[in-house]
Amino acid sequence: GMPTIPPRPLAQRRKSRQIVVGRGDKAVPVGGDAPVSVQSMTTTVTADVNATLQQIAELTAAGCQIVRVAVPSQDDADALPIIAKKSQIPVIADIHFQPKYVFAAIDAGCAAVRVNPGNIKKFDDKVKEIAQAASDAGVPIRIGVNAGSLDPRLLKKYGRPTAEALVESALWEASLFEEHGFRDIKISVKHNDPVVMINAYRMLAEQCDYPLHLGVTEAGPAFQGTIKSAVAFGALLAEGIGDTIRVSLSAPPVEEVKVGIAILEALGLRERGLEIVSCPSCGRAQVDVYKLAEEVTAGLEGLKVPLRVAVMGCVVNGPGEAREADLGVASGNGKGQIFVKGEVVKTVPESKIVETLIEEALKIAEEMEAA
Ligand code: SF4
Repeated sequence: GMPTIPPRPLAQRRKSRQIVVGRGDKAVPVGGDAPVSVQSMTTTVTADVNATLQQIAELTAAGCQIVRVAVPSQDDADALPIIAKKSQIPVIADIHFQPKYVFAAIDAGCAAVRVNPGNIKKFDDKVKEIAQAASDAGVPIRIGVNAGSLDPRLLKKYGRPTAEALVESALWEASLFEEHGFRDIKISVKHNDPVVMINAYRMLAEQCDYPLHLGVTEAGPAFQGTIKSAVAFGALLAEGIGDTIRVSLSAPPVEEVKVGIAILEALGLRERGLEIVSCPSCGRAQVDVYKLAEEVTAGLEGLKVPLRVAVMGCVVNGPGEAREADLGVASGNGKGQIFVKGEVVKTVPESKIVETLIEEALKIAEEMEAA
């Protein structure tokens, strides 16, 4: 078999109640013992049905499991039935102000609705009706607290959107639904500062058993947003907190999905696909490690089997790492020693390293698929 190293288990998962987003073959359980799911949000105008469905298809192909669409206008609400029907993954309607769009989304067959507590007061008298309609349709609700749109009452009480303020806001709104017997809820308490965000989710995790949707809001452009999300989600998921994740980037949503999946893979919460174990290179390197790692990554992109490929610059750590991987190369003297499952299978000139690795990887992949 594969010489994979079993991951050190993370903290036991927090016990959350489970909700189900979507129906039938589109159902995605969130919470309980369900695997942590990855979601994203479309950037198209929702009313532009073709563009929105096209983007949802791209997200689905990238591995997105749940998608959210913004519903700021009646035109958007009108587009929901066809989007909910044609999307291959559950569609959540994101609604900030208008209760009428909540009812429209439920009628449209959306898998869930996200509402914002900063605005719930404005439709306080509608909470009962929303709870009733959602309950009748079996549609869960996400209470999405966001530092930027915190309830003015709490902003006044705490002075700024602190972790305590976010949690109080979320639990208060949950209580409005609970009063009507509605508990089909998941919660998010997002902040752009990972430290505040981590503290908020820790507190929330202790005070309720609702499944939690993790997010660092307005995390920034791709590099910064990736770091912030990886650090914050990593800390929480390592403690067993978090049931579904959304990485927010000022970048195309497909990038959010890739980052989200990579975070789960890095934590061992999801089976890895291709993993390149490459060294940072140093003064001992006898080959251009960056170029080699990039070429191997590009050559193997899209491989569907879990495969760990070591790309090492010299013979110091090279053979050791290459032996632990499914496949690897240790370079030296203008040559590459190619390892397969710990054994040197051949030594090739530097110019043949990439093509040999790709060849061997495809062979292993074929064997894995046949097995
Ligand atoms: Fe340096 Fe060799 Fe280690 Fe790469 S494998 S970092 S080249 S010592």
